[in-house]
Amino acid sequence: MSRPVVAEIDLYALLDNYRLARSRTGNGRAMAVIKADAYGHGAVPVARALEAECPAFAVACLEEAEVLRAAAINKPILLLGGFFDVNELRWLVPRNYWCVLHSFWQIQALESSPLCAPVPFWIKVDTGMHRLGFSPEDVPGVIFRLRELPWVGEIVLLTHLARADELDSDKTLRQMQVLRRTLAGLRVQTCVANSAALLGWPACDADWARPGIMLYGSSPFAEETPDIILNPVMTLKSQIIALRDLPAGEAVGYGGQYVTRRQTRLATVAGGYGDGYPRHAPPGTPVLVNGQRCPLAGRVSMDLVLVDVTECRQARIGDEVVFWGKELKVDEVAAHARTISYTLLAGVMPRVPRHYFSCRNKGVRLAIAAGPRILAGEFQHDGAFGIRRH
Ligand SMILES: *Cc1c(COP(=O)(O)O)cnc(C)c1O
Repeated sequence: MSRPVVAEIDLYALLDNYRLARSRTGNGRAMAVIKADAYGHGAVPVARALEAECPAFAVACLEEAEVLRAAAINKPILLLGGFFDVNELRWLVPRNYWCVLHSFWQIQALESSPLCAPVPFWIKVDTGMHRLGFSPEDVPGVIFRLRELPWVGEIVLLTHLARADELDSDKTLRQMQVLRRTLAGLRVQTCVANSAALLGWPACDADWARPGIMLYGSSPFAEETPDIILNPVMTLKSQIIALRDLPAGEAVGYGGQYVTRRQTRLATVAGGYGDGYPRHAPPGTPVLVNGQRCPLAGRVSMDLVLVDVTECRQARIGDEVVFWGKELKVDEVAAHARTISYTLLAGVMPRVPRHYFSCRNKGVRLAIAAGPRILAGEFQHDGAFGIRRH
């Protein structure tokens, strides 16, 4: 026996979501954003699952890219944050990295650091987010300087949208106007859409898109959008490890602020903020006990949560508890915890084992049907994905 908290990762759902993202790009291409360990899903298995169909990957920094190369992922990788130190430049050619440039200090560093072969550089333009990027009026000058350098290959103009998840805001279209004005007379490719723009803003069509969160089956929008069908990729689950019956009026958990209002059956479940379950999830946040919704009770602690299973009389020790997954969306848990799915997914801690599987037939949930701990996926040396029996 070992601690029952696991994150099951459905790589076929991931591929399905990627295909949806790609279908939304028009004539453009979609690079999968797999920064922050693929939003907690494991960057290497995620990259392997997408590699055959995805022309490039995007990560935040060189260190994240190195992990992929060490695992023999060979597709181009875009460093979204560019380089942070001039010494990183020497890795671009040997490792086939593409690099964002967002500031003049990087242009100066690049001018004084000849590279042995041309590298594609992605110029970030600040069209209104005001976080990273050159001012639109500086872009022609930047391109002029870069074209003087033999070690600069293709140049792509990239921008990031601040409010694409707000479908009633005109900010996205205004950012696109700024981009179009910046582009006038420049012969460069463009890269614009994140998940929200791919799903909600066809006007953000460009040569490249950068979907992230939607690949993992979570919606970038706060409201339900029933016409968008994404397949949740991660199921974070555990088991009941203790049960007790309490009378009304008992204070429960740290701080004792949660008090039972009636005769209550309380399940103690392995899993807490030390695994990445949000500490701020209040009492009432749903979990699934044997597929049935039950509310959290008391405060989330590091290794354990308490769940009111009074309405779920058949609950037994060892029963499955899902914190989020296909039947309980991570977006709903995030809303209860007053955060976004990104932080929950990316926050799943290293101590939680990831079990990979690939289930092509959506009607049969292989890993669950066969018992949560029986099946785990394994990648063969040739990149094929196989199911291993423990
Ligand atoms: C993280 C990131 C993305 C992906 O955004 P999603 O909302 O997850 O689709 C795209 N572009 C940049 C620059 C990013 O940092």
